[in-house]
Amino acid sequence: MSVLIYTENWDNQFKKLSFELVSYGYSVAKMMNTDLKVVSIGNVPEDQLMILGKYGASHIYQVDDNQDFNDRNYTKIIEEVAKKCNAELIIFANNNKGKAISSRLSVRLNAAIATGVSKLPISVNPFVVYKKVFSGKAFADVELKSQTKIITLAQNSFEISENPQTVNIEKLTVSTEASNIKLENTEKQTGKILLNDAEIVVSGGRGMKSPDNWAPLEELASLLGAATACSRPVSDEGWRPHEEHTGQTGKIIAPNLYFAFGISGATQHIAGVSSSKYIVAINTDKDAPIFEQAQYGIVGDAQKVLPQLIQAVKDMQQK
Ligand SMILES: Cc1cc2nc3c(=O)[nH]c(=O)nc-3n(C[C@H](O)[C@H](O)[C@H](O)COP(=O)(O)OP(=O)(O)OC[C@H]3O[C@@H](n4cnc5c(N)ncnc54)[C@H](O)[C@@H]3O)c2cc1C
Repeated sequence: MSVLIYTENWDNQFKKLSFELVSYGYSVAKMMNTDLKVVSIGNVPEDQLMILGKYGASHIYQVDDNQDFNDRNYTKIIEEVAKKCNAELIIFANNNKGKAISSRLSVRLNAAIATGVSKLPISVNPFVVYKKVFSGKAFADVELKSQTKIITLAQNSFEISENPQTVNIEKLTVSTEASNIKLENTEKQTGKILLNDAEIVVSGGRGMKSPDNWAPLEELASLLGAATACSRPVSDEGWRPHEEHTGQTGKIIAPNLYFAFGISGATQHIAGVSSSKYIVAINTDKDAPIFEQAQYGIVGDAQKVLPQLIQAVKDMQQK
């Protein structure tokens, strides 16, 4: 029996969320009185793999994979690893990748699944977790009754902690199926901060009024080393590219700081940003729902607030 974590990497470096998952998995494994194992897919170098030991991983299954992310193949790989280590609990990040693989895996392993878990289990026997429901509008205690269980952890909901372990790396080869999807072309964005990984995100909604008003948002983002994002109507209108839209039907993100300029805070938008550590809302309407979600709020016109914020950041950076 063991707890198994699926870690994510980008350009062969682990994403911050992997350290959060390993820290969380270590605590759950302790509660279950079992071992924590980790699977890493891709050509992550050994020195990077060893870093996982700092957060509590003692056994790492490394599976080389030279292709781009393919959720069917990744499901097959994790299924084999889960069977090999007799995993009782498998944990993913609650992002698009985690949800794509975990849902497939739950069918293959006949495993109960709870997505959007935001705390350590309430109990491990019976196995009860606390999770978001209705796009984060409510919470529920859910009991998973199957022998193998799967959960996805909401990002930024568990503190990264150091739990040093001696690491044992086991290389595995898993034969994957020929894909019926053909990747025709890949274009890699360079010089832009990736929205999914950004620590700070500057986002605009319909309250920005026009695509011509985006320059100050981009200036603020560039000063802060932040990624830019938007609400869905903004991308539907063609003001911003679709890959910037966050929410239920867009990207799920979990930065430390999320600026929402002229965004009302509809449930479907909040579903993608509620794991942000701090939300700062700027809105002319003091009753806008976004203020219920925000830790900091400015009631005011985005066009007037933005230049002042930009100046304040410049002043701070010059000090
Ligand atoms: C099935 C479904 C899925 C959806 N998925 C998503 C999703 O993934 N992401 C998403 O974002 N939406 C999604 N939506 C749409 C969602 O319901 C809202 O319509 C949308 O989030 C509203 O976008 P908004 O806040 O930019 O615009 P609005 O609702 O028009 O709000 C604009 C806000 O700007 C404020 N404002 C106006 N002028 C200014 C100013 N000068 N300065 C500052 N503030 C100002 C207003 O007070 C208002 O609060 C979905 C809807 C459905 C039905």
